[in-house]
Amino acid sequence: MEKDTRIYIAGHRGMVGSAIWRKLEAEGFTNLIDRTSRELDLRHQESVEAFFEQEEPDVVIAAAARVGGILANRDHPYEFLVENLQIQNNLIEASHRLEVQKFIYLGSSCIYPKLAPQPIKEEYLLTGPLEPTNETYAIAKIAGLKACEAIRKQYGKDFISLMPTNLYGYNDNFDLESSHVLPALLRKFHEAKINGNEPVEVWGSGSPLREFLYADDLADAVHFVLEHKLPESYYNVGTGREISIKELALLIQEIVRHRGEIRWDKTKPDGTPRKLLDVSKLKAEGWEASTSLEEGIRNTYTWYCKQL
Ligand code: GDP
Repeated sequence: MEKDTRIYIAGHRGMVGSAIWRKLEAEGFTNLIDRTSRELDLRHQESVEAFFEQEEPDVVIAAAARVGGILANRDHPYEFLVENLQIQNNLIEASHRLEVQKFIYLGSSCIYPKLAPQPIKEEYLLTGPLEPTNETYAIAKIAGLKACEAIRKQYGKDFISLMPTNLYGYNDNFDLESSHVLPALLRKFHEAKINGNEPVEVWGSGSPLREFLYADDLADAVHFVLEHKLPESYYNVGTGREISIKELALLIQEIVRHRGEIRWDKTKPDGTPRKLLDVSKLKAEGWEASTSLEEGIRNTYTWYCKQL
């Protein structure tokens, strides 16, 4: 891909978008386009079309979405469905109409059935019921993947989707009500340490298994997809390794150097019991994750402390 290709990164202030921005800048791309959500409301179709007509991007990377952890998803199912549909439909349709050459859509591993066999292969999509705590978000993400797949098949355009596992990294959401588990635990253990190693409350039973991908590794995968024309319409992106929430809590406790008790709040939901992606398809094309969980968490914790 030419280094002066006009690349619009939707959601460039978020954890994923900012990681992609850093990666493409480091790779020497000189025409990166951004808009903050204040400058451009992606839920508003006419504004999105006007922006596309003005900027004429060659490539669009859709990293803008309404996202959140297990409680935010459970408590705001309507917004997670409709706002995500609006954002992605506007981006996809404007890109289709204005002949964008390449469109990279970012989804989530929650699109797969709650009780899918593990590790989860791409073809398990739509083979069973979804996890209820994030069903509407998942339905929006499935709709986005299918829209890109349909454009690809019907019009022969290079619209492609990546389905990453649970992500973490710089610029993550550290709000305890709406965040995902990894940033929440970094913050909880850090604050408990500062307050004299008071006990830390961790949600659920600790037994669910999750796979975590460093946002910079996802950005590396996006760059790979940008540079290669791949045969399939969507690919899983992950590490292929999983860890229980209990082990994750112990690892974060060690990295933060908290020396107190962990208390399990069993009134909070566990969510899906296990969610491990089969990442062999993208690996066969030549990409795999390179950052260990421990290294990624250490980097993220250093970043978090600098922000305080
Ligand atoms: P999920 O992967 O969609 O279920 O999203 P989360 O990252 O929000 O939650 C993953 C698991 O971590 C669930 O079993 C949560 O109950 C558990 N968990 C433990 N402590 C926390 C916490 O403080 N915040 C969040 N969001 N999840 C937690």
